[in-house]
Order: sequence, then C-alpha cells, then structure tokens
Amino acid sequence: MIAYLERFVHGNDVESRQNDNDEDVVDCTSFFDELDLQGSIDYVATGLAGKDFGGLRSIKPLALIRPAGTDDVAMVVKAAAQSSNLTVAARGNGHSINGQAMADRGLVLDMRSMEDVFEVVVVNGTAYVDVSGGALWEDVLKRCVSGFRLAPRSWTDYLSLTVGGTLSNAGVSGQAFRYGPQTSNVTELEVVTGKGEIFVCSETENSELFFGALGGLGQFGIITRARILLQPAPDMVRWIRVVYSEFEEFTRDAEFLVTQQDGDSFDYVEGFVFVNSDDPANGWPSVPLDSNHGFDPTRIPKTAGAVLYCLEVALHYRNTDHPSTVDMDVDGLLGRLGFVENLKFELDLSYTEFLLRVKHAEEHARAHGLWDAPHPWLNLFVSKADIDEFDRDVFKNILKGGVGGPMLIYPLLRSMWDTRTSVVLPEGEIFYIVALLRSNLPYPRGPSPEKLVAQNHEVIQCCIKNGFDFKLYLPHYEIQEGWKRHFGNQWTRFEERKANFDPLAILAPGQKIFSRIH
Ligand code: FAD
Repeated sequence: MIAYLERFVHGNDVESRQNDNDEDVVDCTSFFDELDLQGSIDYVATGLAGKDFGGLRSIKPLALIRPAGTDDVAMVVKAAAQSSNLTVAARGNGHSINGQAMADRGLVLDMRSMEDVFEVVVVNGTAYVDVSGGALWEDVLKRCVSGFRLAPRSWTDYLSLTVGGTLSNAGVSGQAFRYGPQTSNVTELEVVTGKGEIFVCSETENSELFFGALGGLGQFGIITRARILLQPAPDMVRWIRVVYSEFEEFTRDAEFLVTQQDGDSFDYVEGFVFVNSDDPANGWPSVPLDSNHGFDPTRIPKTAGAVLYCLEVALHYRNTDHPSTVDMDVDGLLGRLGFVENLKFELDLSYTEFLLRVKHAEEHARAHGLWDAPHPWLNLFVSKADIDEFDRDVFKNILKGGVGGPMLIYPLLRSMWDTRTSVVLPEGEIFYIVALLRSNLPYPRGPSPEKLVAQNHEVIQCCIKNGFDFKLYLPHYEIQEGWKRHFGNQWTRFEERKANFDPLAILAPGQKIFSRIH
C-alpha cells in the first residue's frame, strides 16, 4: 500500500511532484499506515472524485475512500488532522457545480458507500426517519412511502442528491414556502467534526454544531446521519401550470399563494420564466406537462414582451377523495389567480411520480448528450424589494434569449428559515429563488462554457451595480474576501464555528473558504 502511494506521489502528477517535498511523503505514508478501515481506499481509480455535475473543473485527489460507517469517517479525519497538509472532502453525489466536493491532492470520502441506515422512529407522536448522510433522497422517498405511507415534507426538485449534500446547503423546492427548506425539517444529526470527533447534535444538544452544519457547506463536520421529520404521504398530486405575460401579475399571484394558511393554498408553488417564441428548449414548448397538450400562442396577449412567466402549482389528494372535490378545490384556488385565460395545463399523477418528475428530464438529457456536458448553473436569492428591477434588467434584457434550460423563479418566506443555521439570506420576509439551470449541448455544438460563465458574471455584476439585496445560493467564491462579503455580519459566527469544529481547516477544501493550516 505504501509503495503504491509513493509511486503515486512521485510519479503520477507533475505539478504535485514539483510542489511536494519529502515531508509530505512521510506524512502521507504514515497516514495510510495508521488506518484500519472497514471500507476501502482507492489510489488509482479516483475518476469519480475528480469530477462533478458542473463539469467546469477536474482535480486529482490523493485517494478516494469508501467509508463503511461513521467510525471510518472519524478515523480518516483524525488521521488527516495528524498529517501536516491533508484535507478531506465528503462527496455526496457530486452534483455541485464548482468543485465544492473535491479535494486537490486530498482525500475524498464517497458518502454513498456508507452503511445503509433507515429507521422510522416515533417521538412524542411524531414520526421521523433516521437515514445515512450518504443516502439519496429518492431512496428515502421510495422507502418511506412504500414501507410506511409516510414522506418527508420538504424536497428538492431533483432527488438523486444526498441527504448530507443538500443539508449542507439548504434544500429548496416548491414545498419550502410551507415547511421551510430541508434544513428546517431535520431535528437531529450525527456529525464527525474536523477533529475526528463524533457528536449527536440537535436544537438542544451540541446546538452550535447542529445549526452550524445545517447550510454549513461542509465546513464544520461531516453529516453521517440525519433525523428527518415525516408526514402522511398523499396518494396523488394534481400538477398545474398557468401562464402570465406580466411579471407583476405573476409575482402578485405567487406571493398570494405562499402567504395563505395551510389548507387555503396549493401544496407546492414554483414558477419559471420562458422565452416568448417557439424555441423548443426555451420557449412555448417547454411549458406543457404532457406531449398531448399543445401550447396555443394565439392566446398570448399582444402586449406581451420577450419573455413570459409560468406559475407551477400542485395540490395533494387521496385516492379516496371524490374527483369533483379535487376539481372544486383546484378551481376555487385557480379562480383567484389572474393568469392568461386558456393557457393552463394540468396532469394527475402519483405523489412519488410527481416528486421523481425531474428523473424524466435526466433521462431525456442523457439520451441527447446534455447530461454530461458542462453545467455552469447559477442560483440566487433575491429580495422581493428588488425583484421587479431584477426582472427588467436580467430576464427581459441579459437572458431574454433563455439559458437553454429552466429559469426558475418563485417566492420563499424568510420566517420558515432558522437564522441559527449557517445559511445567509436577503432581508425582508419574502425573497425569490432564481435558478438558471443551463442545459446546452457540449461545445462546439453548443455555446462555450466560458461564454456562459461570463454571462453568469454579468448577472451578478448587474445585481451588485444596482445595489440589489441578494445572496448566492450554492455559493461559490474563489477568494476569502468574496466569502466575507457573502456572509456579511454572519462572517464572525462562521469563522468562530470553523475555529471550534475544524480548527485546521481540513474539511470541504473545494469550497475555498479557508486554507488548510499546516
Ligand atoms: P455534493 O455536490 O457531493 O457536495 C456538496 C457539498 O457538501 C460539498 O462541499 C461536500 O463536501 C459537502 N458534503 C457532501 N456530503 C456531505 C455530508 N454528508 N456532510 C457534510 N458535507 C457534505 N438544490 C436545491 O436546493 N433544490 C433543487 O431543486 C435542486 N435541484 C438540483 C438539480 C440538479 C440536477 C442538480 C445537479 C443540483 C440540484 N440542486 C438543488 C443542488 C444540490 O442541492 C446541491 O448541488 C447539493 O450539494 C448536491 O448534493 P450532493 O449530494 O451531490 O452533494
């Protein structure tokens, strides 16, 4: 094993050979000597760990480790802490955009290989599920629904993401207005800190670590287990899209729906901007829910501009509900909205099919060579105070031709987010998530990634220049100054948490927030 490693350090990587000195080699050698893992270490086939969904960078780690359980994770982190320079990145499902789950010449833990934890527990009459940090949300869904007719309350749109990966960010979808992000729906975590210590934490036990790890970008610990709040799973969903030509009407209705009491609104509220043209990826054809539905452009008001808006909502129901009751509830809610008459699309499907809806988009993208192409995505939270101007400057101007994929925009409520977590938000109760989910053919058949990254910068610069109150979601900065600005008055708390839980800055080096202390 040691011979292997020395060959790797000396012979495989020209850059690292130039930078490495004997001390590094001794450190790494003794590091691997000490480990007695239940899982496995791979020094050679580390390909998975050097790539992510963004496809914008590739980095060679020293090794890819498949931990069998929490003790393996703790052992690896502890040993890295004893070395002079090693870092450790937990890799969920690698769906980051900018190398956040990578470790340049460090150790990558493939969290998907963690032992299967799945236990439904009832505490004071409320059901929860304990799952591994490396579990995929789609598996949590299937097991909770099929085994218990229960389900988590708050989701992401796409579910081939790990529990630990989304909890390290926030986890947002159309249910977040009602229940908050996924970070508001977890009551207990098991975390391995940057010192290699294992803690169970919650609102009342080791609370600083609990709130730090939620939205903590992997900086304070590795989430090895999470306890997630459950609710009875509905059987069916009516999924509806309606179209607006005016942004003010779209936002008025979206905000109306997200501020109604539970029971007086839909169960899911999202929205997106699309191009007012017949372009297959960006325009009218991107709206219908079913290939049988046609989009009749003669319905669009003559006053409409370059882009249109689609409000996407869904109502849960039970198999035992009478169809006319469902129709009545849906019509009652839609009747209060001001969308373009007859530009409405509806589909009934099972709750599980609804939550797995983006899987179909993945299959389509894979079949057309779009899935493995670079994805320079940009996600922002923008204050309601600035959203009209944002629409005018960004959607109607910079992005009026579309981004080759969905441009999501929908309102969220700040009061549903716990300010003790590490996530930072714009001010004001209502803010919007904006997600530019670019999906283009690889260059040269599609635009170059550099061009798309430059357009993202243009959007960010536009926000800065206009003084918009905004934050990056799934943030990415190359230097600490950017991070300090991002966290603003929360930076001191973030730095203190780092000093407490990962004082040598071993964890999640791909976020580029802190440098490893030698
Ligand atoms: P990774 O990319 O592997 O890791 C992300 C970060 O978390 C890294 O820094 C990593 O080191 C750290 N990390 C990973 N696992 C752990 C752990 N167990 N403990 C501590 N730190 C850890 N987000 C939304 O909110 N809503 C959406 O609807 C949504 N849809 C998406 C759709 C697609 C197709 C894609 C590609 C992404 C989407 N995302 C969405 C973003 C997604 O939530 C983040 O990219 C998330 O980080 C991905 O999870 P992952 O398991 O792949 O994490």
